[in-house]
Amino acid sequence: MELALSKEDRAFAEEMRAFFTSEIPAEIRDRLARGLHPSKADIVASQRILNEHGMAVPHWPLEWGGREWTPLQRHIWSEEMTLAHVPHPLVFNTAMVGPVIATFGSQELKERFLPKTASAEIWWSQGFSEPNAGSDLASLKTSAVRDGDNYIVNGQKTWTTLAQYGDWIFCLVRTDPTVAQQRGISFVLIDMRSPGVTVRPIHLIDGGYEVNEVFFDNVEVPADQLVGEENKGWTYAKFLLGNERTSNAGIGVIKNRIARAKRLGGEVISAEPLLRARLTRLEVETMALEMTVLRVLARESSMPAGTPDPVSSVLKLRGSELQQDAAELLLDILGPAALPFRKERTVPDGFAALDEGAVDAMPTYFNWRKASIYAGSNEVQRQIIAKAILKF
Ligand SMILES: Cc1cc2nc3c(=O)[nH]c(=O)nc-3n(C[C@H](O)[C@H](O)[C@H](O)COP(=O)(O)OP(=O)(O)OC[C@H]3O[C@@H](n4cnc5c(N)ncnc54)[C@H](O)[C@@H]3O)c2cc1C
Repeated sequence: MELALSKEDRAFAEEMRAFFTSEIPAEIRDRLARGLHPSKADIVASQRILNEHGMAVPHWPLEWGGREWTPLQRHIWSEEMTLAHVPHPLVFNTAMVGPVIATFGSQELKERFLPKTASAEIWWSQGFSEPNAGSDLASLKTSAVRDGDNYIVNGQKTWTTLAQYGDWIFCLVRTDPTVAQQRGISFVLIDMRSPGVTVRPIHLIDGGYEVNEVFFDNVEVPADQLVGEENKGWTYAKFLLGNERTSNAGIGVIKNRIARAKRLGGEVISAEPLLRARLTRLEVETMALEMTVLRVLARESSMPAGTPDPVSSVLKLRGSELQQDAAELLLDILGPAALPFRKERTVPDGFAALDEGAVDAMPTYFNWRKASIYAGSNEVQRQIIAKAILKF
């Protein structure tokens, strides 16, 4: 199996790099390069530019803005975007609800939602998890009861990322409480400005605000906002979750963190053999993970989109561990200089460029604890690997 990029793929990567670094405004990329979170305006502005150039939704069907790229080209597109510090198109729009509507939605839903979803004119939120339904998602209780032309929705979602910006939310709701858990679930689209929807912030240990609780109190949802068939929502949710096999590895994120660690703490790393050893190990393990991603991509071409593949659990597990290791290494390299509350940010010996934004190292370390929880916790990934790959 060929694991190095071919000449054509290297040229494709070059083309992507040139596009991202020339078309996306430098001030947006600069903020991300300094380790800051992109704002809503950054994400929307960047996605609009990508969409105008056919670069926002390459994995969608052609008629809705997709490209006939290979899985490897899509991977290169995503990695080069990360390495160029371009905010990714909103994952809830492009990787989640968009492909579900394009595959299972009516023509009317496609026309109504897909163009605005690709351009980020609509900001989608994901309403799956509930206070007692996370890893065991099928035990969700938010109900949708048919009443004439509407469903009446009642219940609560939680951990809803960036719902403070949300225009619409795609939700898994229980439409039939009398059948086995997974069979009574439907996939509905809800306007977040509907009466009875309340968004409440969850404040995080890093000082940031990115997740919410969302409450539904007798919310009227037109029945034509059901995607596909009633009680088939679990099938669509599995399709959605199986759609991205390799992106959770986050190779570009890890590489960017390693590059930052070297840039900010070069002299300290040179002087400390233990830090050098950790950095080298991290680089080697990242390279090994990248090889695995390329192997998975090589065989992905022969599988239909949305087919669940347990190998994605290996990539998610290892990728999230390395993303966290990289955040921890930067913290250890910076030492007290990483403390965000230091008033006097004098530059200790050996640190060339603290003003570049080392101030985010501590919040990033805390924030990134999330990587082993979201997208299926790492314990759950281990269960999948044990059952589906190791056949225990
Ligand atoms: C930052 C962040 C953003 C998120 N964004 C969204 C979002 O936008 N929309 C959305 O719907 N959800 C979102 N989530 C929710 C996420 O999907 C859930 O947190 C995740 O599925 C885990 O569920 P839980 O939090 O209820 O934990 P639980 O499922 O209660 O798990 C608690 C602990 O028990 C362990 N555990 C559970 N089951 C098993 C098992 N069978 N074997 C071994 N160990 C087990 C887990 O690994 C974990 O350590 C987000 C979460 C985070 C942290």
